[in-house]
Amino acid sequence: MIVWKGAKNVRYIWLAVISCLFFAAFPLNALGAETLDQKQADEQRLLLYKKTAAVTNVPWHVLAAADQYERNVRRSRRDLSKQEGLIGIYIPAPLWAGPLNPLQEDTNPARIDFFGGIGKDGNGDGVASKTDDEDLLYTFAHVLGKYGSDMDNIKIGLWNFYHRDKTVGIIVGHHKIFKKYGHIHLTEHAFPVPLRSNYSYRSTWGDARGWGGRRIHEGTDIFANYGVPVRSTAYGVVEMKGWNRFGGWRVGIRDLNNTYHYYAHLNGFADGLHPGQIVEPGQLIGSVGSSGYGPPGTSGKFPPHLHYGMYKDNGRTEWSFDPHPHLRLWERAERQKNRKKK
Ligand SMILES: [Zn+2]
Repeated sequence: MIVWKGAKNVRYIWLAVISCLFFAAFPLNALGAETLDQKQADEQRLLLYKKTAAVTNVPWHVLAAADQYERNVRRSRRDLSKQEGLIGIYIPAPLWAGPLNPLQEDTNPARIDFFGGIGKDGNGDGVASKTDDEDLLYTFAHVLGKYGSDMDNIKIGLWNFYHRDKTVGIIVGHHKIFKKYGHIHLTEHAFPVPLRSNYSYRSTWGDARGWGGRRIHEGTDIFANYGVPVRSTAYGVVEMKGWNRFGGWRVGIRDLNNTYHYYAHLNGFADGLHPGQIVEPGQLIGSVGSSGYGPPGTSGKFPPHLHYGMYKDNGRTEWSFDPHPHLRLWERAERQKNRKKK
């Protein structure tokens, strides 16, 4: 803590205030520019999904869902090459060109086919290039389309392509959201409790926990009164709802960034909330409580608060990361949006 003395320090205070305002405003400007670019990219992607769906009979929202899943995986993995075009789907060279093809970067459709590669020429230019968005998406759709165009068969196709239940589950979740909203630009977020409610939180990432052994604190605690509404922070699918001896009554929601949002110590759930349900930012999912740290129904062992955790799936494992910076950002964005409404 710095104690300011005397009038000659006033200008330093102003400098500090101005620089704080500058830095406070900057992330929002950056966010604004990013969403504008992303919006244009999303519009172009949607056109490509629909065009490819028309010629392969694989629904556009399935293509969009797999692409969305893979784009997120590639952002969180260093062993995969960076996405260059619009489409994020990753097909390794041996799979594209054929495992025994001496030309692993082959783009000749006939030769690729001869060596058992899956690479296809999607736009009819005579070349099957995995760096061409149309060829890439068409190839992926062609693989899935062999199983059929209904969801049960598509799920089998997805499993045969990814060999991972969780991946199939996340893609099916994304597909449900895209299908419901009819588009893919769903980037809005909300703060988990209403901004007008009385709440407080600070960065507690990695703090030692008082109960349950030597685990570190994986999340942010938002202190509020019993019964304060808890809302979904993103578009997502309810993946889990129930009791856990640490978390008490809790809900897990998977969003379109493959991120799992964990809401714990709830007092109760929103009416009818169930696994598989699609939720949107700001939608009521439960209320603040102090459940947990014992058998089902245990409550009141600590002050009421929402424990909010975030976990990222990278296609292999899932790990927790600090939600605090995201909470700050969503809080500020929502406050700014509310101000504009007035
Ligand atoms: Zn906590």
